[in-house]
Formats: sequence, C-alpha cells, structure tokens
Amino acid sequence: MPAHSDDVRRLELVLASRNDGKVRELARLLEGLPVVVRSLGEVGITDDLREDGETFAANALQKVDQVVARTGRACLADDSGLEVSALGGAPGVFSARFAGEPRDDGRNNRKLLAALASVVEPRRARFRCTVAFADPEGPLGARREVFEGACEGRILTAPRGSSGFGYDPLFVPDGHDETFAELGPEPKDRVSHRGRAMRAFRDWLAGYLGVASLGR
Ligand code: IMP
Repeated sequence: MPAHSDDVRRLELVLASRNDGKVRELARLLEGLPVVVRSLGEVGITDDLREDGETFAANALQKVDQVVARTGRACLADDSGLEVSALGGAPGVFSARFAGEPRDDGRNNRKLLAALASVVEPRRARFRCTVAFADPEGPLGARREVFEGACEGRILTAPRGSSGFGYDPLFVPDGHDETFAELGPEPKDRVSHRGRAMRAFRDWLAGYLGVASLGR
C-alpha cells in the first residue's frame, strides 16, 4: 500500500521473483527511487507463482496479478530469457528450465553449448526482458503497465567470467568483447535487457510518483 511523505509519494513494492541474481539486479536498478522493496517471503507468499504464458509479457503480468490479488500491494515482476537465432528463438520463455527441473544455470549452459555445437559464428542471440508493474491503489485508481528491454549479442563456445547469473558467462553483448559475467554489475546494467526495461520503468515512475528528477 502506498505511503505518503511531504510531497514525494513513497511506494511499497513487492518484487515478484525468487531468482537471487535477478532480485539483486532489480534492487540495484531501483536504487535512488522513493520505493520500499518487499520480497515475496515478507508478504507471506512462499509457494511458486504460476507463469505458464507464451510470452515474456504474459508471464510478467501473470506474476504481478497474482501478487496483487493475494496481497493488495503494488508489485513489480520481471520475466526474461534468451532467444538464440539458430534455435528458432529457444529457449525463450523456457530459459530458466531449459535443462529441466530443478532450474540449474550450469546445466542450462551446458545444454545450450551442446545444442549449438555444430553452429559456427556468428551464433546470434538476444536477451529480452519484460517488467510488469501493477498498483491496485494508484492515485487515479488501479494501474498496470509493462516495459520492455532487449540486448543483442552472441553466444561463445565456452563460458567466461564469474559475475552475474544464468547465461551470463556465455553471452557477449554487441559492442563488447567481454561476456556479461566478465563485465560485472554496472557495465552489464548499462547495456542489458533488464537495465533498458528498468530505465523505461524508472522514467515512467518519475511521472507516476510526481517526482521531478530521479537521476541515473
Ligand atoms: P524467469 O524470467 O524467472 O522465467 O527466468 C529467466 C531466465 O532467463 C533466468 O533463469 C536465466 O536463465 C535467463 N536470464 C534472464 N535474464 C538473464 C540475465 O540477465 N543473464 C543471464 N541469464 C538470464
């Protein structure tokens, strides 16, 4: 539920993810905003949220809708994944569980390398991210918005680097020679799908909260 201070509206925001890597990045990309972040556990959601849509946007909206229905609080969800050209856009919305349950980044990366074993350069791929925001008690009533970001690049033949999560050690964004896992947090945020989607969200939120300048 939103709380108000003098002239700046502070928003309590549930982050609808249990992926630690993702939560770390989202929290970083929310820095400086007048928001108070709550985890799913803090609002009493301990089971898995349903996400069986066919698109990133459908899944992100499913997640915020469930949190709003169960808690009545404003929520932010990210649904994201890797689309590899030579695999017809796979693993896409199945990126987290590409190699099956339970989700395991190492197994996913090995499966991706095996699937691309016979594919020569340029091994094009793109990360995509949809961020969904829902506020059941906005200043003008209930509000629901989506923000998109993408990052083009290529897939290496062996992992490099130790930062980040997921497919980061295999993905080199265009304009760089290092993988996301070698670039580290801030350089990744500047070009990543999540960084782009979250900057779009931040720009929109500035107006929503009536804050003149949010920086970053
Ligand atoms: P979901 O959005 O929770 O369904 O899962 C997204 C999955 O896509 C993650 O578990 C990763 O496998 C992959 N992914 C999404 N964003 C990134 C990223 O920034 N780096 C590496 N892998 C990512």
